Amino acid sequence: MKLGIVGLPNVGKSTLFNAITQAGAESANYPFCTIDPNVGVVSVPDSRLNKLKELYDSKKIVQTAIEFVDIAGLVKGASKGEGLGNKFLSNIREVDAIVHVVRCFEDSNVVHVDGNINSLRDIETINLELIFSDEEILDRRITKTTKGLKADKTLQSELNILKKLKETLEEGKSIRTMDLTEDEWDYVKTLDLLSSKPVIYVSNVSEDDLINDGANNEMVKAVREFAATEDSEVVVVSAQIEAEIAELETEEEKHEFLETLGLEQSGLDKLIQSSYHLLGLISFLTAGPQEVRAWTIKKGMKAPQAGGKIHSDIERGFIKAETIAYEDLLEYGTMSAAKEKGLVRLEGKEYIVKDGDVILFKFNV
Ligand code: GDP
Repeated sequence: MKLGIVGLPNVGKSTLFNAITQAGAESANYPFCTIDPNVGVVSVPDSRLNKLKELYDSKKIVQTAIEFVDIAGLVKGASKGEGLGNKFLSNIREVDAIVHVVRCFEDSNVVHVDGNINSLRDIETINLELIFSDEEILDRRITKTTKGLKADKTLQSELNILKKLKETLEEGKSIRTMDLTEDEWDYVKTLDLLSSKPVIYVSNVSEDDLINDGANNEMVKAVREFAATEDSEVVVVSAQIEAEIAELETEEEKHEFLETLGLEQSGLDKLIQSSYHLLGLISFLTAGPQEVRAWTIKKGMKAPQAGGKIHSDIERGFIKAETIAYEDLLEYGTMSAAKEKGLVRLEGKEYIVKDGDVILFKFNV
């Protein structure tokens, strides 16, 4: 999964991104995390893996990972080629979801590009750039489809939906706010429009405002109200605090630090959780003496495709998925004890994998 961090200049993107890369995953486990300075990889915390490691006496834990891409430089006018506008916009095209950092902290030492702080105006500025860029794409598509229509009347329905999308953009609204049928969404996905991407708004607040999840901060309230209108998520963080957390060496130190602040979770953990929720993702687990490991899949995925995440051979030669719920395994301590209780299931091709399933795939090579 790849998330792109956007936001106006001076809102705390780099501070957050640096905290993310510093908290970063052990690169040995993620060969794809190369030296690109704009990409940071974090492992997804999953306490179930620690328990499984004990049960199986495994050598190591491999967490699943999320890639964060720092898409700095998206400014007013980007869609018209201001700055390095178009390059940034094409970076956004590649991500699964957008993490939109919004400044909700006061600090007279940190200038705001528009002179004062206004979270809603900032959101609108960035969203409009994405909308303008989408409009250009749609204009070209509409021209092409209109021409094609002379020879092929079946293009009429496509043209209708393209026009419907365009109207929404002209009202200054993002495509993701639209009420479309599943078929229409499938078609929209093929267009790769920026404003159709799911968004998490990250409200960057001062340390004091972290308490009660930003409830005392008017700008956070405004962000929440806006996000609700488009089914986007909101995560309240303090980029500065995240930077301090990232400096700490051990998990214990992190826990203690969070406790002194009266917090249960770091902002980064909240962000990860929120992205799973937003994108409809779950994790299944594999366990053995060599390693215990979490794998991320889309909710609703069937057993062979889930196995395909591990290796394409598993999907191709799928026979059965020996499956047990993590809680059941934990309760009975070993696979054989759980088997006696009838809690280990042999699931077939149509089985829909659930979050926390511990699976051993049987397959023909
Ligand atoms: P970017 O341009 O969006 O990448 O913003 P930066 O991460 O470079 O941050 C801009 C400035 O705001 C820097 O001086 C940061 O130290 C400061 N800053 C970032 N996050 C916070 C925060 O949560 N509180 C305060 N007071 N300052 C912050």
